[in-house]
Amino acid sequence: MPLKGFTINIIMIRPLCTICKGNFAAVNYKTNSKIYYRKICASCARKTKRTKEQPGWTKTGYKKKLICERCNFSAKTSHQIFVFYIDGNLKNNNWLNLRSICANCRIELNHAKTTWRESPLVADY
Ligand SMILES: [Zn+2]
Ligand SMILES: [Zn+2]
Repeated sequence: MPLKGFTINIIMIRPLCTICKGNFAAVNYKTNSKIYYRKICASCARKTKRTKEQPGWTKTGYKKKLICERCNFSAKTSHQIFVFYIDGNLKNNNWLNLRSICANCRIELNHAKTTWRESPLVADY
């Protein structure tokens, strides 16, 4: 089988990160004979994870209000308030498109037939 050695050589070459193309790709896992790499390096992996976790409105400086803009419930902590997108477009981070909504209204809205869509939750640090 002359092709066998060739295949192994390809796998053993450590690829460059497909995002920054500057760092080597991170090790995914190792077996006894082979090392498997990820497509991206460790620092790009961390970056993409972070942007995925944080919804767009957090970057616009929008702050959750402590009063529900639907029923005027006044919350004690921002954990009781959720951000909704009125037009259902999670990329439209215009403040006019955002509403602070209490946990009660959140349940109602998620069952009601509206265009409103809940923002992905913000990761707490
Ligand atoms: Zn990278
Ligand atoms: Zn409410």
